[in-house]
Amino acid sequence: MPPRDSFGRTIDYLRVSVTDRCNLRCIYCMPPAGVEKRSHREVLRYEELALIVRAAAEIGITKVRLTGGEPLVRLGLPEFVRMIASIPGIDDLSMTTNGTLLAGQAAALAEAGLHRVNISLDTLDPERFASMTRWGSLDDVWAGIAAARAAGLTPIKFNVVVIRGLNNDQITGFARKTLTDGWHVRFIEWMPIGSDTGWVPEGAVPSAEVRSEIEREFGPLHPVGGPEGSGPSRYYQLGGAEGTIGFISALSAHCCPSCNRLRVTADGRLRPCLLDDHEFDLRVGLRQGAGLDTIKNLLTQAIQSKPSCHHLHEALPPHGRTMAQIGG
Ligand code: SAM
Repeated sequence: MPPRDSFGRTIDYLRVSVTDRCNLRCIYCMPPAGVEKRSHREVLRYEELALIVRAAAEIGITKVRLTGGEPLVRLGLPEFVRMIASIPGIDDLSMTTNGTLLAGQAAALAEAGLHRVNISLDTLDPERFASMTRWGSLDDVWAGIAAARAAGLTPIKFNVVVIRGLNNDQITGFARKTLTDGWHVRFIEWMPIGSDTGWVPEGAVPSAEVRSEIEREFGPLHPVGGPEGSGPSRYYQLGGAEGTIGFISALSAHCCPSCNRLRVTADGRLRPCLLDDHEFDLRVGLRQGAGLDTIKNLLTQAIQSKPSCHHLHEALPPHGRTMAQIGG
Protein backbone atom coordinates (compact mmCIF):
# COMPACT_ATOMS: atom_id res chain seq x y z
CA MET A 1 0.00 0.00 0.00
CA PRO A 2 1.39 3.44 -0.86
CA PRO A 3 2.04 5.66 2.16
CA ARG A 4 -0.20 8.57 3.15
CA ASP A 5 1.00 11.95 4.34
CA SER A 6 -0.27 13.74 7.43
CA PHE A 7 -3.15 15.24 5.38
CA GLY A 8 -4.33 11.84 4.13
CA ARG A 9 -2.94 12.22 0.60
CA THR A 10 -1.59 9.08 -1.02
CA ILE A 11 2.07 9.52 -1.95
CA ASP A 12 2.92 7.03 -4.65
CA TYR A 13 5.16 9.01 -6.99
CA LEU A 14 8.88 9.86 -6.91
CA ARG A 15 10.54 12.25 -9.33
CA VAL A 16 14.22 11.55 -9.69
CA SER A 17 16.48 14.20 -11.16
CA VAL A 18 19.50 12.54 -12.77
CA THR A 19 21.36 15.76 -13.61
CA ASP A 20 21.16 19.51 -13.10
CA ARG A 21 22.65 20.10 -16.57
CA CYS A 22 20.64 20.95 -19.63
CA ASN A 23 21.45 21.28 -23.32
CA LEU A 24 18.96 24.16 -23.69
CA ARG A 25 18.51 27.45 -21.81
CA CYS A 26 14.77 28.10 -21.92
CA ILE A 27 14.52 31.79 -21.18
CA TYR A 28 11.94 31.43 -18.42
CA CYS A 29 13.81 28.58 -16.72
CA MET A 30 17.53 29.39 -16.70
CA PRO A 31 19.76 32.42 -17.15
CA PRO A 32 21.82 32.45 -20.41
CA ALA A 33 25.01 31.21 -18.77
CA GLY A 34 23.11 28.44 -17.02
CA VAL A 35 23.24 27.96 -13.29
CA GLU A 36 26.13 26.94 -11.09
CA LYS A 37 26.70 23.29 -11.87
CA ARG A 38 27.17 20.66 -9.21
CA SER A 39 30.49 18.85 -9.54
CA HIS A 40 30.43 15.18 -10.54
CA ARG A 41 31.26 14.28 -6.95
CA GLU A 42 28.24 16.16 -5.67
CA VAL A 43 25.85 14.42 -8.06
CA LEU A 44 24.56 11.04 -6.94
CA ARG A 45 25.83 7.98 -8.78
CA TYR A 46 23.26 5.80 -10.52
CA GLU A 47 23.77 3.12 -7.84
CA GLU A 48 22.94 5.68 -5.14
CA LEU A 49 19.82 6.86 -6.98
CA ALA A 50 18.76 3.26 -7.52
CA LEU A 51 19.08 2.58 -3.79
CA ILE A 52 16.74 5.51 -3.12
CA VAL A 53 14.23 4.16 -5.64
CA ARG A 54 14.45 0.69 -4.06
CA ALA A 55 13.76 2.20 -0.64
CA ALA A 56 10.85 4.17 -2.10
CA ALA A 57 9.40 1.02 -3.65
CA GLU A 58 9.70 -0.77 -0.32
CA ILE A 59 7.59 1.88 1.41
CA GLY A 60 4.94 1.59 -1.30
CA ILE A 61 5.85 4.11 -4.01
CA THR A 62 4.90 2.70 -7.41
CA LYS A 63 5.61 5.46 -9.95
CA VAL A 64 8.97 6.95 -10.88
CA ARG A 65 9.68 9.77 -13.30
CA LEU A 66 13.20 10.64 -14.43
CA THR A 67 13.89 14.30 -14.99
CA GLY A 68 16.60 16.96 -14.74
CA GLY A 69 18.10 19.32 -16.04
CA GLU A 70 17.80 17.36 -19.23
CA PRO A 71 17.97 13.66 -18.31
CA LEU A 72 19.23 12.67 -21.75
CA VAL A 73 22.48 14.59 -21.32
CA ARG A 74 23.63 12.20 -18.60
CA LEU A 75 25.68 9.34 -20.02
CA GLY A 76 24.47 5.80 -19.56
CA LEU A 77 20.82 6.63 -18.91
CA PRO A 78 19.52 3.36 -20.42
CA GLU A 79 21.59 1.38 -17.90
CA PHE A 80 20.04 3.39 -15.08
CA VAL A 81 16.58 2.79 -16.54
CA ARG A 82 17.32 -0.93 -16.54
CA MET A 83 18.29 -0.79 -12.84
CA ILE A 84 15.05 1.00 -11.92
CA ALA A 85 12.84 -1.11 -14.15
CA SER A 86 13.98 -4.25 -12.36
CA ILE A 87 12.98 -2.97 -8.90
CA PRO A 88 9.91 -4.86 -7.68
CA GLY A 89 6.94 -2.57 -7.07
CA ILE A 90 7.76 0.13 -9.65
CA ASP A 91 4.97 -0.26 -12.18
CA ASP A 92 5.15 3.09 -13.96
CA LEU A 93 8.50 4.39 -15.17
CA SER A 94 8.46 7.58 -17.22
CA MET A 95 10.71 10.50 -18.15
CA THR A 96 10.32 14.23 -18.74
CA THR A 97 12.51 15.55 -21.52
CA ASN A 98 12.83 18.42 -23.95
CA GLY A 99 12.95 15.74 -26.67
CA THR A 100 15.92 17.15 -28.56
CA LEU A 101 18.17 14.15 -27.86
CA LEU A 102 15.44 11.54 -27.88
CA ALA A 103 15.83 10.38 -31.48
CA GLY A 104 19.14 8.70 -30.69
CA GLN A 105 18.06 7.17 -27.37
CA ALA A 106 14.35 6.30 -27.50
CA ALA A 107 14.81 2.72 -28.68
CA ALA A 108 17.49 1.93 -26.09
CA LEU A 109 15.43 3.50 -23.30
CA ALA A 110 12.31 1.54 -24.25
CA GLU A 111 14.31 -1.66 -24.49
CA ALA A 112 15.75 -0.98 -21.01
CA GLY A 113 12.25 -0.67 -19.54
CA LEU A 114 11.13 2.97 -19.81
CA HIS A 115 7.35 3.08 -20.31
CA ARG A 116 6.57 6.58 -21.61
CA VAL A 117 7.78 10.15 -21.97
CA ASN A 118 6.48 13.66 -21.39
CA ILE A 119 7.91 16.19 -23.80
CA SER A 120 8.23 19.85 -22.85
CA LEU A 121 7.36 21.96 -25.86
CA ASP A 122 6.26 25.56 -25.57
CA THR A 123 5.79 26.49 -29.22
CA LEU A 124 5.12 24.85 -32.58
CA ASP A 125 7.01 27.58 -34.43
CA PRO A 126 10.67 26.78 -35.28
CA GLU A 127 11.95 30.34 -34.93
CA ARG A 128 10.14 30.89 -31.66
CA PHE A 129 11.47 27.56 -30.44
CA ALA A 130 15.03 28.68 -31.19
CA SER A 131 14.52 31.97 -29.37
CA MET A 132 12.67 30.55 -26.35
CA THR A 133 15.27 27.83 -25.83
CA ARG A 134 18.06 30.25 -26.85
CA TRP A 135 19.42 27.82 -29.49
CA GLY A 136 17.29 24.67 -29.80
CA SER A 137 16.07 23.13 -33.05
CA LEU A 138 12.42 22.17 -33.33
CA ASP A 139 13.37 19.59 -35.98
CA ASP A 140 15.27 17.68 -33.31
CA VAL A 141 12.10 17.54 -31.21
CA TRP A 142 10.01 16.28 -34.15
CA ALA A 143 12.61 13.54 -34.68
CA GLY A 144 12.47 12.73 -30.96
CA ILE A 145 8.67 12.50 -31.00
CA ALA A 146 8.76 10.15 -33.99
CA ALA A 147 11.37 7.95 -32.31
CA ALA A 148 9.42 7.88 -29.04
CA ARG A 149 6.29 6.78 -30.90
CA ALA A 150 8.18 4.15 -32.87
CA ALA A 151 9.67 2.80 -29.63
CA GLY A 152 6.26 2.69 -27.92
CA LEU A 153 7.09 5.31 -25.26
CA THR A 154 3.42 6.28 -25.16
CA PRO A 155 1.10 7.93 -24.34
CA ILE A 156 3.27 11.01 -24.87
CA LYS A 157 2.13 14.07 -22.96
CA PHE A 158 3.18 17.51 -24.14
CA ASN A 159 3.87 20.10 -21.44
CA VAL A 160 3.40 23.73 -22.40
CA VAL A 161 4.32 26.52 -19.97
CA VAL A 162 2.23 29.51 -21.01
CA ILE A 163 3.88 32.93 -20.72
CA ARG A 164 2.16 36.12 -21.74
CA GLY A 165 3.94 37.85 -24.58
CA LEU A 166 6.16 34.84 -25.27
CA ASN A 167 3.92 31.96 -26.35
CA ASN A 168 0.31 32.66 -25.37
CA ASP A 169 -0.42 32.94 -29.11
CA GLN A 170 0.40 29.22 -29.36
CA ILE A 171 -2.46 28.04 -27.13
CA THR A 172 -4.96 27.35 -29.90
CA GLY A 173 -2.33 25.63 -32.06
CA PHE A 174 -1.63 23.15 -29.27
CA ALA A 175 -5.34 22.66 -28.60
CA ARG A 176 -5.86 21.92 -32.31
CA LYS A 177 -3.26 19.13 -32.05
CA THR A 178 -5.64 17.26 -29.70
CA LEU A 179 -8.18 17.21 -32.55
CA THR A 180 -5.91 16.57 -35.51
CA ASP A 181 -3.18 14.36 -34.04
CA GLY A 182 -4.62 12.96 -30.79
CA TRP A 183 -2.02 14.83 -28.67
CA HIS A 184 -2.31 14.96 -24.90
CA VAL A 185 -1.43 18.55 -24.05
CA ARG A 186 -1.02 20.04 -20.57
CA PHE A 187 -0.92 23.78 -20.08
CA ILE A 188 1.19 24.76 -17.09
CA GLU A 189 1.13 28.06 -15.22
CA TRP A 190 4.52 29.75 -15.08
CA MET A 191 5.70 29.60 -11.47
CA PRO A 192 8.15 31.84 -9.60
CA ILE A 193 10.87 29.24 -9.19
CA GLY A 194 14.51 30.22 -8.94
CA SER A 195 15.85 33.75 -8.89
CA ASP A 196 17.17 35.19 -12.11
CA THR A 197 14.56 33.64 -14.38
CA GLY A 198 12.69 36.86 -15.14
CA TRP A 199 9.42 35.77 -13.53
CA VAL A 200 6.85 38.55 -13.31
CA PRO A 201 3.24 38.11 -12.14
CA GLU A 202 1.83 39.57 -15.40
CA GLY A 203 3.69 36.88 -17.37
CA ALA A 204 1.86 34.00 -15.72
CA VAL A 205 -1.31 33.19 -17.66
CA PRO A 206 -3.97 31.66 -15.38
CA SER A 207 -5.41 28.31 -16.52
CA ALA A 208 -8.91 29.84 -16.61
CA GLU A 209 -7.74 32.29 -19.25
CA VAL A 210 -6.13 29.52 -21.34
CA ARG A 211 -9.32 27.52 -21.08
CA SER A 212 -11.52 30.46 -22.19
CA GLU A 213 -9.34 31.05 -25.19
CA ILE A 214 -9.59 27.40 -26.25
CA GLU A 215 -13.36 27.35 -25.76
CA ARG A 216 -13.80 30.58 -27.72
CA GLU A 217 -12.03 28.97 -30.67
CA PHE A 218 -13.18 25.34 -30.50
CA GLY A 219 -16.28 25.15 -28.27
CA PRO A 220 -16.73 23.64 -24.80
CA LEU A 221 -14.20 21.47 -23.04
CA HIS A 222 -15.67 18.41 -21.35
CA PRO A 223 -14.10 16.99 -18.17
CA VAL A 224 -12.56 13.53 -18.62
CA GLY A 225 -10.17 11.26 -16.72
CA GLY A 226 -6.57 11.85 -17.68
CA PRO A 227 -4.34 9.57 -19.74
CA GLU A 228 -2.36 6.89 -17.90
CA GLY A 229 -0.23 8.25 -15.03
CA SER A 230 -2.21 11.43 -14.45
CA GLY A 231 -1.19 13.52 -11.44
CA PRO A 232 -2.49 16.86 -10.20
CA SER A 233 -3.68 18.15 -13.56
CA ARG A 234 -7.37 18.33 -14.46
CA TYR A 235 -8.24 16.89 -17.85
CA TYR A 236 -10.72 17.89 -20.53
CA GLN A 237 -11.52 17.05 -24.13
CA LEU A 238 -12.87 19.00 -27.06
CA GLY A 239 -15.82 17.42 -28.86
CA GLY A 240 -14.51 14.91 -31.40
CA ALA A 241 -10.92 14.99 -30.06
CA GLU A 242 -8.91 11.86 -29.39
CA GLY A 243 -6.38 13.77 -27.35
CA THR A 244 -6.87 15.53 -24.03
CA ILE A 245 -6.15 18.96 -22.60
CA GLY A 246 -4.89 19.24 -19.03
CA PHE A 247 -4.28 22.21 -16.81
CA ILE A 248 -1.65 22.41 -14.09
CA SER A 249 -2.57 25.43 -12.04
CA ALA A 250 -0.13 25.76 -9.16
CA LEU A 251 -0.55 29.53 -9.01
CA SER A 252 -4.28 30.00 -9.47
CA ALA A 253 -5.32 26.91 -7.51
CA HIS A 254 -4.58 27.73 -3.92
CA CYS A 255 -4.05 24.28 -2.59
CA CYS A 256 -2.55 21.00 -3.54
CA PRO A 257 -5.13 18.40 -2.46
CA SER A 258 -4.06 15.89 -5.09
CA CYS A 259 -0.30 16.20 -4.64
CA ASN A 260 1.05 12.66 -4.70
CA ARG A 261 4.80 13.13 -4.99
CA LEU A 262 8.28 13.55 -3.56
CA ARG A 263 11.35 14.75 -5.44
CA VAL A 264 15.01 13.78 -5.28
CA THR A 265 17.44 16.33 -6.70
CA ALA A 266 20.52 15.24 -8.63
CA ASP A 267 22.69 16.20 -5.66
CA GLY A 268 20.73 13.97 -3.33
CA ARG A 269 18.27 16.28 -1.58
CA LEU A 270 14.84 14.92 -0.89
CA ARG A 271 12.25 17.64 -1.45
CA PRO A 272 8.77 17.12 -0.03
CA CYS A 273 7.26 20.05 -1.99
CA LEU A 274 8.37 21.58 -5.29
CA LEU A 275 7.54 25.07 -4.06
CA ASP A 276 9.10 24.89 -0.61
CA ASP A 277 12.86 24.99 -0.12
CA HIS A 278 12.80 22.58 2.84
CA GLU A 279 14.95 19.55 1.90
CA PHE A 280 16.36 16.39 3.51
CA ASP A 281 19.97 15.52 2.75
CA LEU A 282 20.21 11.94 1.51
CA ARG A 283 23.70 12.23 0.09
CA VAL A 284 25.46 12.61 3.42
CA GLY A 285 23.80 9.46 4.70
CA LEU A 286 24.45 7.53 1.50
CA ARG A 287 28.12 8.47 1.49
CA GLN A 288 28.42 7.39 5.13
CA GLY A 289 27.08 3.98 4.18
CA ALA A 290 23.38 4.38 5.01
CA GLY A 291 21.40 1.33 3.99
CA LEU A 292 17.86 0.80 2.84
CA ASP A 293 16.30 1.21 6.29
CA THR A 294 17.85 4.63 6.87
CA ILE A 295 16.71 5.84 3.45
CA LYS A 296 13.22 4.43 4.02
CA ASN A 297 13.12 6.32 7.29
CA LEU A 298 14.08 9.61 5.64
CA LEU A 299 11.51 9.08 2.88
CA THR A 300 8.83 8.48 5.49
CA GLN A 301 9.86 11.62 7.41
CA ALA A 302 9.76 13.65 4.18
CA ILE A 303 6.28 12.35 3.39
CA GLN A 304 5.06 13.29 6.85
CA SER A 305 6.55 16.78 6.47
CA LYS A 306 4.76 17.60 3.21
CA PRO A 307 2.91 20.90 3.63
CA SER A 308 -0.82 20.90 2.87
CA CYS A 309 -0.44 23.83 0.48
CA HIS A 310 2.35 25.76 -1.07
CA HIS A 311 2.81 29.35 0.10
CA LEU A 312 3.25 31.07 -3.23
CA HIS A 313 0.33 33.40 -2.62
CA GLU A 314 1.66 34.78 0.62
CA ALA A 315 4.72 36.53 -0.77
CA LEU A 316 5.49 35.12 -4.21
CA PRO A 317 9.15 34.76 -3.28
CA PRO A 318 11.69 33.67 -5.88
CA HIS A 319 12.74 30.21 -4.79
CA GLY A 320 16.38 29.32 -4.30
CA ARG A 321 16.85 26.70 -6.99
CA THR A 322 15.63 26.84 -10.58
CA MET A 323 13.30 24.16 -11.90
CA ALA A 324 16.24 22.52 -13.68
CA GLN A 325 18.17 22.27 -10.39
CA ILE A 326 15.24 20.80 -8.53
CA GLY A 327 14.03 18.47 -11.25
CA GLY A 328 10.88 19.73 -12.91
N1 SAM B 1 14.70 19.12 -19.49
C1 SAM B 1 13.49 18.42 -19.19
C2 SAM B 1 12.32 19.05 -19.91
O1 SAM B 1 12.52 20.01 -20.64
O2 SAM B 1 11.22 18.55 -19.75
C3 SAM B 1 13.18 18.27 -17.72
C4 SAM B 1 13.44 19.43 -16.81
S1 SAM B 1 12.46 20.88 -17.11
C5 SAM B 1 13.05 21.90 -15.81
C6 SAM B 1 10.88 20.32 -16.59
C7 SAM B 1 9.71 21.19 -16.88
O3 SAM B 1 9.75 22.32 -16.06
C8 SAM B 1 9.60 21.70 -18.30
O4 SAM B 1 8.32 21.36 -18.79
C9 SAM B 1 9.72 23.19 -18.15
O5 SAM B 1 8.97 23.86 -19.11
C10 SAM B 1 9.16 23.39 -16.77
N2 SAM B 1 9.50 24.65 -16.12
C11 SAM B 1 10.71 25.22 -16.00
N3 SAM B 1 10.62 26.37 -15.29
C12 SAM B 1 9.32 26.53 -14.96
C13 SAM B 1 8.59 27.50 -14.24
N4 SAM B 1 9.19 28.56 -13.70
N5 SAM B 1 7.26 27.33 -14.09
C14 SAM B 1 6.63 26.25 -14.61
N6 SAM B 1 7.27 25.28 -15.30
C15 SAM B 1 8.59 25.42 -15.48
